[in-house]
Amino acid sequence: MRPGRRFEPFEGSPRLVEVARADRRELWTEAVGDPPPVYGERWTEVLGHRYRLFEPGRSKLAAAIVRGWVGDLPAPGERWLYLGAATGTTVSHVADMVGPEGRVYAVERSIRPFARLLTLADRWPNLRPILADARGPLSYASLVPPVDGVYVDIAQVDQLAIAMANASLLASGEGSRLLIALKTASMGRLLSANAHRQSAERTLSASTALVPSVSLEPFHKAHFLIGGRWGRNARLPAPRRERPTTPRGPRRGRRAR
Ligand code: SAM
Repeated sequence: MRPGRRFEPFEGSPRLVEVARADRRELWTEAVGDPPPVYGERWTEVLGHRYRLFEPGRSKLAAAIVRGWVGDLPAPGERWLYLGAATGTTVSHVADMVGPEGRVYAVERSIRPFARLLTLADRWPNLRPILADARGPLSYASLVPPVDGVYVDIAQVDQLAIAMANASLLASGEGSRLLIALKTASMGRLLSANAHRQSAERTLSASTALVPSVSLEPFHKAHFLIGGRWGRNARLPAPRRERPTTPRGPRRGRRAR
């Protein structure tokens, strides 16, 4: 980012800045940590502040912002719980967004990426790596204070249940955020990607005031960012349609007894 180029802080998340290019929007986060790059991303310095390019092709959160996500984002001073931190690509940007006064509790269950997360935390002092299975939030609840937001990117069939179990236990309460990078390919092939999204939205709407989901294509195939504000004010799901109570006649092809 050359000095003089217009970059606009995001409303509500001012450590995230946007640069309008002729053909695209570029996102950068103000770095909490020191170089070298975490995953090969570009760095630049403007007026004494260091920024890192936040690439939609590498991060589902960046893709969601580029695709028009209108929900709240991690903001300075907040605490976030991040499930499925892997080697730290996105979590390092979330840590940038919450800034030096915020904290990101980064859960990862695989030892190899976790080892790299530990090294990253040496340079990002607001990052707290936790080696654990996100299916058992009780196992790390004592390490995580109530959080302002939960971000979930674990690509598992039960990703939604895991997200809700963690938010129930660790979200600070009404108004905290729940964001899920939904990988529909992990949810079975019986439904289309959109049908999986709709079903996830229905389930989540009992506990979350949803903002419109966004598709992460073309950056991440069959992925969506879904979520919103977790809490009591969430819209209740529409009542299920009752099944007919009148007995049906025998099915066609079957002999009546
Ligand atoms: N969020 C990462 C990023 O954008 O940089 C990429 C995450 S990758 C798609 C999914 C990660 O979730 C993997 O590193 C995997 O080991 C982790 N994971 C899967 N199931 C998990 C579980 N039950 N508990 C904790 N981590 C899990």
